[in-house]
Amino acid sequence: MRPLFIAGNWKMNPTTEADAVSLAEAVKEGVGQDHAVRVAVCPPSVFLHRLDTVLSNSPIGLGGQNMHPEPSGAYTGELSAGMLVDVGCTHVILGHSERRHGLGETDAFVNKKLLAALKAGLIPIVCIGETLEEREQGQTEAVVGDQLDGSLAGLDGDQMAGVVLAYEPVWAIGTGRTATPEQAQQVHAFIRSRLSERFSEAIASRVVIQYGGSVKPENARDLLARPDIDGALVGGASLKAADFLGIVEAAR
Ligand code: PEP
Repeated sequence: MRPLFIAGNWKMNPTTEADAVSLAEAVKEGVGQDHAVRVAVCPPSVFLHRLDTVLSNSPIGLGGQNMHPEPSGAYTGELSAGMLVDVGCTHVILGHSERRHGLGETDAFVNKKLLAALKAGLIPIVCIGETLEEREQGQTEAVVGDQLDGSLAGLDGDQMAGVVLAYEPVWAIGTGRTATPEQAQQVHAFIRSRLSERFSEAIASRVVIQYGGSVKPENARDLLARPDIDGALVGGASLKAADFLGIVEAAR
């Protein structure tokens, strides 16, 4: 059985450390010592160090929202995998659509980051997903398949088993328009079959595939009930502790 995994992507929120601490404290209190569901929060990088302390003695993972593939050097504004580990991170989000589409990140670049993250001991959450135009043109599987092939290049089976994938249809992110559980399950099953062909059925059955895109407490249970949906990457609803905890509750 794959453990369900709920991660919060706070993006560029909240805007002060005090608010980030309050949110983390509320999530910590709500999760308590429950290990039945894996939970992680991914705050802005400037708050990571402080939140590592706040989340101590808690099963909640701490994740970066991005990193650079190189370990150090002349990369103004960037952070390395080693730096994320040093401030207490256990996870890192890679290839989010806001970076792929807003900042031109390619599968090849995501792949470099992925290899560096694994080398540093971080659990990567690799995001993939099609745009509305691609879906309407019937290209969802071709796009997601290409993203998988490119982003996961060079990984062996053991490494793959430790990667979390997040299927996030771009048209469902921050729009309030969620994929139906059937639509999401269909793509998740496709992803798992692709992993099975590329690695093995045994490895594919171990990979956690989250769904992301306007997940809320009200729709989480239906999505999480599908056989290939193993959790959620949550944006907007992770900014209110009650909503995020409602989604964690739906995963119990
Ligand atoms: C996200 O950005 O990863 C995301 C899923 O956002 P939202 O839940 O707000 O759609």
